[in-house]
Amino acid sequence: MSNKMLDDLDKILFSKDELADRIKELGAAITADYAGKEILMIGVLRGAVIFMADLARSIDLPVAIDFMAVSSYGAATSSSGVVRILKDLDENVENKHLLIVEDIIDSGLTLNYLIENLWSRKPASIKICTLLNKPDRRKVEVPIAYNGFTIPDHFVVGYGLDFAEKYRNLPFIGVLKPKVYEG
Ligand code: 5GP
Ligand code: MG
Ligand code: MG
Repeated sequence: MSNKMLDDLDKILFSKDELADRIKELGAAITADYAGKEILMIGVLRGAVIFMADLARSIDLPVAIDFMAVSSYGAATSSSGVVRILKDLDENVENKHLLIVEDIIDSGLTLNYLIENLWSRKPASIKICTLLNKPDRRKVEVPIAYNGFTIPDHFVVGYGLDFAEKYRNLPFIGVLKPKVYEG
């Protein structure tokens, strides 16, 4: 395919078709597991937006969507898992079935915080669906109910994932050339 941003990539990890096929499978599994229930999908801004849009359409059940934006307090405290809420949910989640949708889980610190925060609001259940899982640098275990792909410790972009707000609109996932982020 022709795309000017392709030059910045070492390789493509998952093509548009591979992503679509896997997301259909995730949607079918979620549809089966939540039969008879309504789901409130909680997207973690901004990386999860494109995945969430496709995932929601692969689920054959009533689905509501809401979003949270979080940021870590900076390098020194990010290892403690201290996270700041930049944008909170619009919905009350009490007694609802929450499906947290993430682009990628790396250290696990962001999600660990989110899960604790959301449990305090007394939902009926919380599960996690992530497109990518990068377990090599995990600092805290998070229970992943639905995982698109497990990948090695490379910096990946595309399909929602950015470097400096770029590459989110690539329709596939690729490994960024180190020279791009090393300057
Ligand atoms: P963690 O699990 O370490 O708390 O944070 C995961 C977040 O870090 C992801 O939601 C994403 O924003 C960012 N991140 C981690 N690994 C990558 C990667 O390989 N590429 C991109 N673009 N973002 C990543
Ligand atoms: Mg994310
Ligand atoms: Mg980012």
